[in-house]
Amino acid sequence: MSQKRSWRIYGTHVYHAFWRLWNLRKIPSPSLLQEQPLPQSVSHTMEADVQPVDDGIPNPYLSGTGFQELTPEEDLTRPGPSSRARSNSTSSKSSSSSSSSSSSSTSSSHLVRLNRNTLAINNRPIATVIAKRNQAGTIEEEKRGKHGKQYKISSDIIKGIKNHIDSIPRIESHYVRQQTTREFIDGGKNLTDLYTDYQTQCLSDGIEAAKIHTYRKVFNDDYNIGFHTPKKDQCELCISFKNAIDKTIELQNRYDQHQLEKELCRQEKSNDKTMVKENYIVACYDLQAVLPLPKGDVSTLYYKCKLNVCNFTISELAKDYCDCFVWSEVEALRGANEIATCVWKYLTKMASEINDNNLRITFYSDNCCGQQKNKFMFCMYLYALSVLKIKSITHKYLISGHTQNENDSVHSVIEKAVKKCLRSGPLYTPDQYVTIIRTARKKGNPYNVTEMCYSDFVDIKNLTEICGAQFSKNTEGGTVKMSDIKIMKFEKHQDFNHVGIYYKTSYSDTDFKEIQFRNNRSSRTRTSTDLQDFQLKPLYQSRLKLSDRKNSDLKSLINSNIIPQSYALSYYNSILF
Ligand SMILES: [Zn+2]
Repeated sequence: MSQKRSWRIYGTHVYHAFWRLWNLRKIPSPSLLQEQPLPQSVSHTMEADVQPVDDGIPNPYLSGTGFQELTPEEDLTRPGPSSRARSNSTSSKSSSSSSSSSSSSTSSSHLVRLNRNTLAINNRPIATVIAKRNQAGTIEEEKRGKHGKQYKISSDIIKGIKNHIDSIPRIESHYVRQQTTREFIDGGKNLTDLYTDYQTQCLSDGIEAAKIHTYRKVFNDDYNIGFHTPKKDQCELCISFKNAIDKTIELQNRYDQHQLEKELCRQEKSNDKTMVKENYIVACYDLQAVLPLPKGDVSTLYYKCKLNVCNFTISELAKDYCDCFVWSEVEALRGANEIATCVWKYLTKMASEINDNNLRITFYSDNCCGQQKNKFMFCMYLYALSVLKIKSITHKYLISGHTQNENDSVHSVIEKAVKKCLRSGPLYTPDQYVTIIRTARKKGNPYNVTEMCYSDFVDIKNLTEICGAQFSKNTEGGTVKMSDIKIMKFEKHQDFNHVGIYYKTSYSDTDFKEIQFRNNRSSRTRTSTDLQDFQLKPLYQSRLKLSDRKNSDLKSLINSNIIPQSYALSYYNSILF
């Protein structure tokens, strides 16, 4: 394609270069020659007269234009073949006309040689220019691609392609950046696979299928779709720095700071790991990529919206222990409330098991604002310190782009177990995932799974509203930006009645700053005693309703027996409407 275009540009360039030279030399128009078409018999004589040019390219335009390769001696003395031809064929022509043509072709020959030497081109583009010159002296418009006889793809075919692309379920927005208009589809298939499916569908529907290049054109031009792979993103800052040709001082400083934070964060985590003891827990938490249902090798599943199952994992460092909280999308969503509920359940369990007023816990996680880096989570920590036997909770945020942590290996063990299980048949219900997760680990402690029901989730946002928490000012009057926070620390004071909230904006900071914890309703600083009487309320009163598309897709899978009837009776009928 681009090669074709570059030839076109080259051709146009030669066109104009030649014309400039032509006009400079004030050579009479060769249009005269074209105004009088030559008889067939004569033109044969002429063609025989024309010597082949040494570039080996046959030149059909040469006949009748007066162009041929001449030696310097020849071209000064010998008239051009066309003028000779014309004087033969039109004996009634005046001699002045003949001599003018003769001088034209002689000059043309100079020009041919000039062009061949300076522009390094053969006769063909020159002859084309001459042939395309109109009476006004300009060259007629480029006609390539403008003949209007292009094959038009019918609107039905385009519609068919679009229907097929529209039928592919999009990845739900949590996993993709929300600021983008780009949609994502499951990376389990590529464009060629999609085209093959489209072709098969057209065949079974008895309709004409478009060619793959048309399908690709519609896919690329009319949509903004990416193939989603659950792999974690590479660090944008590191990549942009690596790719930047002009590394500005500002970019260099940002990159150096980023590298420093990354290194300090790693050190901090490995230091924390060595300090783990009975009453000091260090844990990472993260939500696994969604587990879809049904899951199997059936190709049609790709085009159906599936039931999503969430698995939130909390891995304890240096303890060989991992808690998994599993729920399906009819039980709960996967936002701040849900994540905070799981962490709350974990804290409650650990506080009661360890039963030590000096229990300290450090969490590590990524920076997802929708899940854990928000005031709802902070309020939950405050509440936990108020009502549980915990001395302090510290949350350290891993550096964006470098958030690899212990949960990744847990998730990978589970994914492998799922793959192994699929060999003996598809998965249909959340219970099956629960069993797989429980038995995924072959060595060490099995993962501890808590199956979450809608009634288990608590409304942390309501708690935040009640205590009217604000974390935006520090005790020195400065503004606290959530995005700058690297470490948050919630600690009970000596009297166990007041919780101090501290933060660092860099892993290189030696001292914490304190947040001026305020509420909207009164200027009085809240103490932990204020939260002690608070009762957490349930988040949901019933199961959630599936989207219409998901409901109808799952129903169609039951009707076509891709989901066996027994699973429909035992599970799906209770969630579909
Ligand atoms: Zn980076």
